[in-house]
Amino acid sequence: MNATSIAFAAGLVASLLFILSLAGLAKHETAKQGWTYGVAGMVIALAATFGLVIDGRPGVGLPLLIAGVVVGGAIGLWRARVVEMTGMPELIALLHSFVGLAAVLVGWNGYREAAQGLVIFPLDSLEKIHHAEVFIGVFIGAVTFTGSIVAFLKLSGRMKSAPLMLPGKNLLNLGALALFAIFTVWFVISPALWLLVVVTVLALALGWHLVASIGGGDMPVVVSMLNSYSGWAAAASGFLLNQDVLIVTGALVGSSGAYLSYVMCKAMNRSFISVIAGGFGIEAGPTGDIDYGEHREILAEDAAELLASATSVVITPGYGMAVAQAQYPVAELTRQLRDLGVEVRFGIHPVAGRLPGHMNVLLAEAKVPYDIVLEMDEINDDFPGTDVVLVIGANDTVNPSAAEDPASPIAGMPVLTVWNAKDVIVFKRSMAAGYAGVQNPLFFRENSRMLFGDAKSKVEDIVRALSRVPV
Ligand code: NDP
Repeated sequence: MNATSIAFAAGLVASLLFILSLAGLAKHETAKQGWTYGVAGMVIALAATFGLVIDGRPGVGLPLLIAGVVVGGAIGLWRARVVEMTGMPELIALLHSFVGLAAVLVGWNGYREAAQGLVIFPLDSLEKIHHAEVFIGVFIGAVTFTGSIVAFLKLSGRMKSAPLMLPGKNLLNLGALALFAIFTVWFVISPALWLLVVVTVLALALGWHLVASIGGGDMPVVVSMLNSYSGWAAAASGFLLNQDVLIVTGALVGSSGAYLSYVMCKAMNRSFISVIAGGFGIEAGPTGDIDYGEHREILAEDAAELLASATSVVITPGYGMAVAQAQYPVAELTRQLRDLGVEVRFGIHPVAGRLPGHMNVLLAEAKVPYDIVLEMDEINDDFPGTDVVLVIGANDTVNPSAAEDPASPIAGMPVLTVWNAKDVIVFKRSMAAGYAGVQNPLFFRENSRMLFGDAKSKVEDIVRALSRVPV
């Protein structure tokens, strides 16, 4: 058996392990097992690549491969160790951009090899397929590259999260797609270098525009959509490099990312087509210039009194709880209130925080019992019978305009209907808008009071005040 067939067999085993990994990661009970399968698959795929290089043209290839694995592995290990959980989505977006860039480079190299006669095509049709693969791979890769960079800039706050509203933005996107289709046919018939340059520039601009046009509230879907694009970009590279494992893995990532985007769109009441088409049909609503009146404030001591006299309390955490790392005092507060005989439950919005499941992980880390942590749909009907809601560092996910103002950029997105409770206490540092960049009328309601300051220190103040309350 030669090295190529061993590598082919290893690729199949790695692909199977990746499928098992995805299946394992789908449930938290089997997530660790899924992770192990994924690592094993990656090790096998890497070993097969080394085998192929050693067997083929070891010359400069081997030192380059070793350098790539050592440098890339070291940076990956370092980032994985230092990244905060709140920084995960932006790191993922950045990693997607690398996949996109790699696909562009692989495509360009595929063009060079064919142009220099380094690849032999036994049939004319195979040469045409090769050119189509180059062109499509470069296009998907370039869209993924700039799209992911914009997502990274938006998620890390380096770029405004409000949607870019260029005049005729939908026409621009459609025009770019039509040009791509025409150029693809042209390139397959006559593979001129200038066409490849044009499609690269066009796709870079399209990727940038697609993601820049999407508002902050839809970013969770964008991240999983870019995940899907990066999968298709990798699959396109797999065709060019003749690597089955890359085709299978790319298709797995591409289809699972697309499905996740679809599920998230449904959960957020968004049109899937509208989001993947760069906010197609979504117009920017008024942001932040409406006068909602005056807000009222509350001190930690008064909040503690209100809580101690309550029968039922619901806590709705958001991104601010993660930033402040307030989950530990929140767990302590929960314990104290339950000792006082108060019923305490948590209401978790599907996109609270900066990645799906973010809040659940933080609360589990702080040892909040699972059975009092409820999903949005499970808790929403109970707000009218709730005495006090503590909104801890959440904003968009509790914004009534999503339900009440059809002109709002987040209109139609399901939210936690906290305003139906008797009293609402909002923990945040200022009156600033949330991630979607829209003002929240909840803060100005009759039954709402603001508790300004860092969420962790404010919850600690309440814990201290409550510890003085006799049980
Ligand atoms: P938001 O981003 O809407 O609001 C968080 C609030 O926390 C801010 O208004 C901020 O106000 C406050 N805050 C920040 N730091 C602190 C602190 N140290 N102490 C107290 N408060 C603090 O968060 P939500 O969780 O409500 O909503 C999530 C948003 O993120 C949605 O728009 C969602 O679409 C988006 N998103 C979600 C992703 C996901 O997969 N879950 C991924 C990407 C985006 P202030 O500055 O005044 O303190």
